Amino acid sequence: MSIDIKFPDGAVRQFDKGVTGLAIAEGISKGLAKKAVAVKVNGAEWDLTRPIEEDAAFEIITRDTPAGLDILRHDAAHVLAQAVQELFPGTQVTFGPVTEDGFYYDFARDEPFSTGDFEKIEKRMREIVDADLPIIRQVWNKEDAIAHFKSIGEIYKAETIDEVIKPGEPITIYSHGDKWGDLCRGPHLPSTGRLGKGFKLMKLAGAYWRGDQKNQQLQRIYGTAWSDEKQLAEYLQRVEEAEKRDHRKLGRAMDLFHMQEEGRGMVFWHEKGLTLWRTIEAYVRRRLDAAGYVEVRTPQVLDRVFWEKSGHWDKYRPNMFVCETVEGEELSLKPMNCPGHVQIFKFGQKSYRDLPLRMAEFGACHRYEPSGSLHGLMRVRAFTQDDAHIFCREDQIESETTAFIKLAKSIHSDFGLTTDHIALATRPEVRAGSDEFWDKAEAQMLAAARAAGVEPVIAEGDGAFYAPKLDFVIKDAIGRMWTCGTIQLDYVLPDRLDAEYVGEDGQKHRPVMLHRAILGSLERFIGILIENCAGAFPMWLAPVQVVVATITSDAEAYAHEAAAELRKAGLRVHVDAANEKINYKVREHSLAKIPVIAVVGRNEAADRKLALRRLGGDAQQVVTLEEAKALLASEALAPDQR
Ligand code: ZN
Repeated sequence: MSIDIKFPDGAVRQFDKGVTGLAIAEGISKGLAKKAVAVKVNGAEWDLTRPIEEDAAFEIITRDTPAGLDILRHDAAHVLAQAVQELFPGTQVTFGPVTEDGFYYDFARDEPFSTGDFEKIEKRMREIVDADLPIIRQVWNKEDAIAHFKSIGEIYKAETIDEVIKPGEPITIYSHGDKWGDLCRGPHLPSTGRLGKGFKLMKLAGAYWRGDQKNQQLQRIYGTAWSDEKQLAEYLQRVEEAEKRDHRKLGRAMDLFHMQEEGRGMVFWHEKGLTLWRTIEAYVRRRLDAAGYVEVRTPQVLDRVFWEKSGHWDKYRPNMFVCETVEGEELSLKPMNCPGHVQIFKFGQKSYRDLPLRMAEFGACHRYEPSGSLHGLMRVRAFTQDDAHIFCREDQIESETTAFIKLAKSIHSDFGLTTDHIALATRPEVRAGSDEFWDKAEAQMLAAARAAGVEPVIAEGDGAFYAPKLDFVIKDAIGRMWTCGTIQLDYVLPDRLDAEYVGEDGQKHRPVMLHRAILGSLERFIGILIENCAGAFPMWLAPVQVVVATITSDAEAYAHEAAAELRKAGLRVHVDAANEKINYKVREHSLAKIPVIAVVGRNEAADRKLALRRLGGDAQQVVTLEEAKALLASEALAPDQR
């Protein structure tokens, strides 16, 4: 008997029934077979060694692709669990999923692990890889599997199977030779040797069974895994580089901001940090003004009734900061600005001539996030969005979206960030609206992106409940990706809050709303910026742009005079007249990443000159004070003002 195997390029070839993915890959090339970690059979991931019994669409998953890496990481988690159980008898396995750049496994063990155990565990993991144990897939029935795991003392596995698997549903167990087995959906590699040595254990953390603090405490071991040792080394280098750039560390060292326990997820902005903030805000405001936006501001706290109407009270209540007054009013801090903007839209009658109406707000929002998920500026509870809502007619969606994409890309690039790609998030499984609606809405977003010269990457099923969206993914200086900026189509909120305009036909119509943000939140964006430039802000963003540093005390009066002149030219200037050696001062201000140090001694004071030194450069440029004013002021212009 033969079956038809259809390849991604459309070619169809015949194979014997029961052929394995590995055999097909070997038939194509030995190199490909070596790189293969699994296959896709009719869209489902399969083990390389699992027989294919009927006609199928077929695809090979190689180890250097995202899907391939996920499989390697899953195998690494299994190998870790085997190593740990062999080295620390009595340890129970619980759950070991893949993460963004690796994997973890949660273990139940009375004694604590320490990072000092890592070397020993990694060594055993490498031994398991070297032993090249066959990884065997077995199908069990539920009752036998529960009995089996109970008999070997794995109560967590038995409990998982009991809850997750329906009666009669078969389950798969993957084992490494006859040594070790785990409940798993798969797929897995054909043998442990194929994992390779591109893995490393990274850190330890506490965890709870099922993530519930009322349950038993577990110990989590995190690891990373890559397709080979070279990729691993590159990753470790990136981690090291990222640690050096950590915005929390730099934020403190550069005196930009701090956070403390009493205000979890909230930021204390210091003078320099707020200067940076205001510079960014002023720049974005100019860009919005030029792009035809109007700016508004809506209340910080609004009555419960308001949030009930908007639907937030019902769906979003657990994330809202709710407060009560002595009069018994129940209010909530706004978690988003959208319903407030609809109120302004509804104030007075709107006609089709008023559309598109682009309403912007630097909107301060509060959302409760679990304290464990907070992370510096990247994940906070209080933040300010560069938010705007475009109220428009249906036939304006495309042109407004295209204009927005161009604006967002231009703004990101002015901050030195490149757009890696734009993701079109399409219809999720659970959704509102008919298929015709989604067909049309997705097509509109796609056409708008193409009109802006962008071919979006399709993020299938990632759309909002009510409509598709476009997300911007930017790449920073060390290759990390950040989702930053979004535009979302919305027919629901205008309907719910009864927004309308009078059309050309004299009839009332619902406007469409486009929710959009370019930076996302200013807090997180500043975090990204700090890490992107490792604290060395470009001149236009630097909180202190110039330090005038004296060589001798008799230049002090001139230093202050020069600083005052530079400030008149719009520059942010400090004077350092401390009684220190000039080399020490230059070193200190270089460490603080000040873009320009203007050195003044007796000669400069007598000639009314400045000796300019740039961050990162050795050369010194001696210019008159007047020349310095013009030169530095032009260098400090924001990209949109040049
Ligand atoms: Zn919105």
